[in-house]
Amino acid sequence: MAFIQKNGLSGLEFMAGVPASLGGMIAMNFGCWDICMNDIVHSVDLFIPNQGFVTYSNKQCHFGYRTSIFQTMDCLIMGATLCVSVSDSMLIKKTIHRYVNERLKKQPMRIATFGSIFKNPSLSPAATIIENSGFKGYQLREAKISDKHANFMENTNHASSQDALDLIHFIQQNVYDSFKIQLNPEVHIFQ
Ligand SMILES: Cc1cc2nc3c(=O)[nH]c(=O)nc-3n(C[C@H](O)[C@H](O)[C@H](O)COP(=O)(O)OP(=O)(O)OC[C@H]3O[C@@H](n4cnc5c(N)ncnc54)[C@H](O)[C@@H]3O)c2cc1C
Repeated sequence: MAFIQKNGLSGLEFMAGVPASLGGMIAMNFGCWDICMNDIVHSVDLFIPNQGFVTYSNKQCHFGYRTSIFQTMDCLIMGATLCVSVSDSMLIKKTIHRYVNERLKKQPMRIATFGSIFKNPSLSPAATIIENSGFKGYQLREAKISDKHANFMENTNHASSQDALDLIHFIQQNVYDSFKIQLNPEVHIFQ
């Protein structure tokens, strides 16, 4: 963020305040404030075992809602060419501050979380559904649905991966029982 601000390069401000790597953001088609990686990625430089270094165009990335082709490939994202435009440094700074402040107001930013737990179903944001189910602030052992944002899970102390998984399954089951809505994790689970 300091680099784009200093050099007056606009287009990446939406990433501000999120702890993530470029490779992870591309693989996940990271997005917020109505912008996602699909909108700014020109091409992606990859290492593919047995093929070597390859460049994929935006179209070849098959970006979707928090998905890309890279989630199904054995590959390493090494870099990317992103589209930016020249703009005023002060304007960029202001936008970055606005986005970070919005996050600080609405999300648990200085607590251990992994970002959104569930993808938003088409009907309604996952946070609203969880809140309407009465589980905002619900705690299962050391994993807790945030009081600030119901689609974030906080590690209150030393939550284990099992605590997190049990809370995910508990919320999924209860939301399904109440509203017949299937919440699908946005976070990737490796077991
Ligand atoms: C406080 C907070 C707020 C967040 N807000 C948002 C938000 O608004 N919108 C949003 O979309 N996400 C959000 N996230 C989630 C997270 O930042 C994203 O999922 C991000 O896109 C990936 O983060 P990462 O770099 O940690 O990747 P990881 O979580 O480490 O990996 C994500 C996936 O990408 C793959 N991957 C990672 N690096 C590479 C690479 N170099 N080559 C190939 N594959 C790779 C991994 O195998 C994995 O499948 C938030 C997270 C936090 C903690």
